[in-house]
Amino acid sequence: MSKNDRRVALVTGASSGIGRATTTALRQAGYRVFGTSRKAVADGADGLEMLVCDVTDDASVQSMLAELLKRAGRIDLLVNNAGIGLLAGAEESSISQAQALFNVNVFGVIRVTNAVLPVMRKQGRGRVVNMSSVFGLIPSPYNALYASTKHAVEGYSESLDHEVRTLGIRVVLVEPGATRTAFEENIIRPDQPLPVYDAMRSRIEVLMRQVVESGDSPEVVADTVLRAATDALPKRRYPAGKKANQIRFMRRFFPESMVDKGLRKFSRLPA
Ligand code: NDP
Repeated sequence: MSKNDRRVALVTGASSGIGRATTTALRQAGYRVFGTSRKAVADGADGLEMLVCDVTDDASVQSMLAELLKRAGRIDLLVNNAGIGLLAGAEESSISQAQALFNVNVFGVIRVTNAVLPVMRKQGRGRVVNMSSVFGLIPSPYNALYASTKHAVEGYSESLDHEVRTLGIRVVLVEPGATRTAFEENIIRPDQPLPVYDAMRSRIEVLMRQVVESGDSPEVVADTVLRAATDALPKRRYPAGKKANQIRFMRRFFPESMVDKGLRKFSRLPA
């Protein structure tokens, strides 16, 4: 197959973790893959083409897409993966910190999707895979703002999917559980910490680190993205890994009071 016949994929946040593993899985499946990072990064030895993009910046998104289209002429798959975390009590972040988080995790997704959709509409086909999280399904104390961004991505994706399905485009969600990446190291801290939350926040931080250390490899999520990208009849959501499937099952079928109790126990919060 020549370079020009291959399906073209764009993966945001491809410099590390889940994004990087996803570019490899897509390359191995035969895609021509473009990845993005905010910094200029050399192309991968495996053929991955890296572009500069900050998903919080309209001009950066537009120029990245223009470069992709100049080189490849079309786009078959968008994986909105770029994202950051914030570990803080809900009232420990200023509004500007909350807005900065939403600007990456929610408006970043919307910004890149809005740039790509006109191209996909013209082609009459395309797929968008949005990286959610199990925290898009369940509450997560001391991750309230992060969980809000992923709940927003869920509502946006499912709604958009109904709008563009008749145009040949599908929008689906991938929901990873804890995954062993640099996510925890890059996590943002509260910009207005309050002593009343110090002890619990610290305990949750230790717990999250333990959960991530025993979490799935990014390749587990990448394989799930590949299924979400290629299933002829896609599902709306793809939990990635055993834990994420269990959490999804629990959320769907367990009484709310039981989920509430389980969550407090898991988070070591007093009953
Ligand atoms: P990493 O920190 O390894 O990767 C995050 C990526 O996002 C980096 O490549 C970074 O690129 C990119 N990024 C951050 N800010 C921006 C920005 N403003 N514009 C463009 N790119 C940006 O973490 P993960 O691989 O774990 O995270 C990937 C996705 O998976 C996120 O959406 C996260 O919410 C989700 N997720 C992760 C889980 C986990 O346990 N790890 C669990 C559930 C969901 P660069 O710095 O090079 O610009």
